[in-house]
Amino acid sequence: MSLVVSNIQKQYNGQKAVDGISFELHPGEIVGFLGPNGAGKSTTLKMIAGILMPDAGSITINNQLVQIDSIASKKLIGYLPESNPLYKDLYVKEYLQFLGNIHQVNHLSNRIKEVIDFLQLGLMQHKKIGELSKGYQQRLGIAAAIIHQPALLLLDEPTSGLDPNQLIEIREVIKLLSKRSMILFSSHILQEVTAVCNSVLVMHQGILVANEPIEELLKPKTNHLHILFEEELSHLKEHISKLSLDIVSIDKHLLVVKTAEGKDVKKMVMQFALDMGLNIERLHTEEASLEEIFKLLTH
Ligand code: ADP
Repeated sequence: MSLVVSNIQKQYNGQKAVDGISFELHPGEIVGFLGPNGAGKSTTLKMIAGILMPDAGSITINNQLVQIDSIASKKLIGYLPESNPLYKDLYVKEYLQFLGNIHQVNHLSNRIKEVIDFLQLGLMQHKKIGELSKGYQQRLGIAAAIIHQPALLLLDEPTSGLDPNQLIEIREVIKLLSKRSMILFSSHILQEVTAVCNSVLVMHQGILVANEPIEELLKPKTNHLHILFEEELSHLKEHISKLSLDIVSIDKHLLVVKTAEGKDVKKMVMQFALDMGLNIERLHTEEASLEEIFKLLTH
């Protein structure tokens, strides 16, 4: 059971919000979805959840196409939207009953008890949702998203607005949930993503600028020179490969090369930029921290 997102695109009033992104999620994975505000994360999550139709591309879960109102897909997906819309006048247990009925959950009373215990909502179960603190509302949002035991859980900024204690608790909940579901959750807190996830997707201006395991992202990038160009490099790969440089990666605007003793790599790169009429936006040789990598990727 995997999620396969293939080249999806979405525009709002002619403006591209998601511009052809592809990635996969497999059982046991918790993937952090990072990016600045407006990067296109929520739009992507909504398309995967089947509540927004992509303009192009495809999303499959368990080899079936996710489409608006596709009942089969919705059974496999749990979604906690960023705004966590809850019916404030309903009681906690009543709300879970209501959702469980919609999803036609078998042995619903048992499942509600299980979910209430798991999310430690016991003391709150007979309260009105509007009376709950932000932390408990977030727990209830997660309870609502998992009532039908989905194979894929999409969480849009699940920890935003929580105090530090609540934040730690919700992170622990997310880790435990990954035993049953693949999880894709958006955040703009790097430390959170490294604490909880196996891998990370970084989105910026509608495109994916990174898709790698956490270890890869955290690997000390020593002896690497990062050169961020204003221009896209995709059509220059052949030219770049002809240079006597030890290339680590070429990704959109970012060229990473190994520095080598006795070779002035910086000078070579600058000469290449000059020859090709390219503008270097940033050159970076030090060991990059996660924040720096993020800045570099989304600059
Ligand atoms: P993120 O979740 O990364 O903050 P969003 O997916 O919410 O990003 O937004 C991506 C882009 O699409 C932004 O420029 C945002 O203003 C725009 N956008 C999002 N939702 C709508 C909408 N309903 N109508 C018009 N534009 C939207």
